Amino acid sequence: MNVLITGGAGYIGSHIALSLLQQNHHVLVLDNLCNSSPIALQRVEALSGKKLAFHQGDIRRRADLNRVFNSESIDAVIHMAGLKSVNESLQKPVKYYQNNIAGTLTLLETMKQHQVNKLIFSSSATVYGIPVKIPLCENCDAGNTTNPYGASKYMVEKILREVVDAQPELAITALRYFNPAGAHASGQIGEHPAGIPNNLLPYLFQVANGLRAALPVFGDDYATPDGTGVRDYIHVMDLAEGHIQALKNLQAGYRHYNLGTGQGYSVLEIVRMFEQVSGKRVPLDMRPRRPGDVAICLSDPSSAREELDWQATRGLEAMLRDAWRWQVLNPQGYVVQPVEGEV
Ligand code: NAD
Ligand code: UDP
Repeated sequence: MNVLITGGAGYIGSHIALSLLQQNHHVLVLDNLCNSSPIALQRVEALSGKKLAFHQGDIRRRADLNRVFNSESIDAVIHMAGLKSVNESLQKPVKYYQNNIAGTLTLLETMKQHQVNKLIFSSSATVYGIPVKIPLCENCDAGNTTNPYGASKYMVEKILREVVDAQPELAITALRYFNPAGAHASGQIGEHPAGIPNNLLPYLFQVANGLRAALPVFGDDYATPDGTGVRDYIHVMDLAEGHIQALKNLQAGYRHYNLGTGQGYSVLEIVRMFEQVSGKRVPLDMRPRRPGDVAICLSDPSSAREELDWQATRGLEAMLRDAWRWQVLNPQGYVVQPVEGEV
């Protein structure tokens, strides 16, 4: 298949690109590089031994989309392009709605114009808002979101459902990711957030490699076994394989699936396991709860197992080991190494 990945230079998109190439699909990437580096794609090509077609451009610009859709025939789109910081979305909601919603509308119009009917959309467990039931299954209430980022994902899901009602030729699957973590086992591609990390694992790694003094632990008084927040972390390669299965099993209509492991780990369990895996000690800084956080967020992944024939196979130890390898090999992320002799 010829598969276009919007946002394919990013953390998750680059791992999906690699999995697709390894399965002999042809990959096109459209990315404006606002949160990524083209070096990620060079490494994907080196790891797979195959070429992909990279187009730098913005999903909000129709000319950029047309350029890609006119370049070769496209069978399916995996739509990853978007902004993803919960904090930033609270400061800049318009930027988030503009990018995540308006961008998706332009993509949908372009797909219609070019008669491309298959779409996989990167959604998120944040669409569930404050969980009313644990574990979360796909028919649990969604939409009670707590920030513009989560709202943008929920609104796009709603738009996709409505568009499918009007265009029955469309086959759309939204995948609700739980907490993506880890890196490709080679240590060549991974996640490197700009600035001070908001998420647990990137912050933990920066403490372990000496960039930051201590890991803030946001709350130790939750109703969880050790009082710290519990999440369902999923290896990014499992996530990538989930997209391949979703693509294989696409059917006309709209569907959505949780992609998680169904297994929860607390902040302190993560820290302990990481210390074992890396041999590093992680100083902790106990803090009050972070506003907006929930005690537990955990998936019921059984629908994806039954309907997509997919389940996560990598555990927490592999996630931490692989992500730490990436971190040690690339402490500054994807920086261009100066060529000898250049200033
Ligand atoms: P990322 O920031 O690494 O990747 C997103 C990519 O999209 C980046 O390469 C960025 O440059 C690109 N991009 C952003 N806006 C664009 C635009 N207007 N036009 C073209 N390219 C654009 O993030 P990620 O972690 O790989 O996430 C990918 C998708 O998965 C996002 O939609 C995100 O919301 C969703 N998601 C991520 C998580 C997570 O924790 N990482 C969880 C749930 C859902
Ligand atoms: N967390 C923490 N310190 C940090 C970042 C996160 O204690 O520096 C906790 C957070 O309160 C939550 C868990 O780690 O219980 C996962 O947080 P993350 O931001 O990674 O994911 P999300 O909250 O989006 O599930």
